[in-house]
Amino acid sequence: VSADPHAELAQASRAAFPSAYDEAFRRFAAQAASCEAIDTEATGPGGARLSTQVAWFGKPDARNVLVLLSGVHGVETACGSGIQIDWLRMDGPSRLQDDEAVLLVHALNPHGFAWDRRVTEEGCDLNRNFVVFERGVPLNSDYPRLAPFLVPAGLDAATLAEAEAQLARLRAELGEVAFQRARKSGQYIDPKGTFFGGFGPTKARLRLERIAAQFELQNRAFVTIIDIHTGLGPFGYGEPQDEHQPGSASSRLCRAFFGESVTSPDLGTSYSVSVHGTVGEWFMRNLADGAHVYLCLEFGTYDQERSRKVLREDQWLFVHATEEIERPIGRAIRARTRAHYFPGTPDWCELVLMRGRQIIAQAFAGMRDRSSGRLP
Ligand SMILES: [Zn+2]
Repeated sequence: VSADPHAELAQASRAAFPSAYDEAFRRFAAQAASCEAIDTEATGPGGARLSTQVAWFGKPDARNVLVLLSGVHGVETACGSGIQIDWLRMDGPSRLQDDEAVLLVHALNPHGFAWDRRVTEEGCDLNRNFVVFERGVPLNSDYPRLAPFLVPAGLDAATLAEAEAQLARLRAELGEVAFQRARKSGQYIDPKGTFFGGFGPTKARLRLERIAAQFELQNRAFVTIIDIHTGLGPFGYGEPQDEHQPGSASSRLCRAFFGESVTSPDLGTSYSVSVHGTVGEWFMRNLADGAHVYLCLEFGTYDQERSRKVLREDQWLFVHATEEIERPIGRAIRARTRAHYFPGTPDWCELVLMRGRQIIAQAFAGMRDRSSGRLP
């Protein structure tokens, strides 16, 4: 009689998903003996220095590389970390073929992880920061109209009621898609506002660029990048978002690898609106079309209105009430942000693990089909 498969999944998810930065760091180091800790200048509560960890499995000159990336949005790290740690615990490295390698990038934005925030130490949304700043930043002309009401200076009932009324008015005027784009697609004017894309490359962006250069991703025959996020879509569902130009070779391969559940923000089939300056844009600029697939794997948690309110509190705390960050009000706000982006319930974690395992298997199958000529 074989083991209970659900009991195995439940046990694996308890062993994989970390509760916080320290535990994630230790678990990753324990599972990936060869990992390298890249020190950053960011510090966590208590002043401890924080690191991004990287680990390579397979031959140094492997032709096909799978990159698993966790923690672009710091507070979302535990989800991607759990998928990475599970792959290691399940002996993923022993199943690599001769021409395959895996690069794990763990906690790219450790500041956000340690402080329960999406943003970097610069207050920047890293997934809006990969624009080409020399060419000029995208214009988000509706954002300034929303900004004072998205994060008012106070969170008292009267102020909130007024802000909500103003937002409802703007939402009706703009329509839902334009409203969400104004709110979330990125703004490049106010470091104290939400979804700030930066005035230049952040330290975390430069770190990812150095990692990509160190492991020579541009010289590989094929690279698949799975960038793991949370916070959008149905609870526990992992939506594979194709950010490639519709009709491009990489977009066709993305669908061939990951199947009919693939969605596209550009085509309006995703829970996400299309946004500027994503990690995916950077890979698309630096790796040839048809020689890579970038997938944003987005796990749903709670609804968007809840996330809007969670982010309002978070931004208020770190902009208007910094003295509260390590006091009870601040701790409560941070705990709500953390729970929003990482629910951590057994059912949610098990869904994430199942989907994570499936997506990794699909990525390898796709790269093997492509290598052997079964995919154009
Ligand atoms: Zn994210």
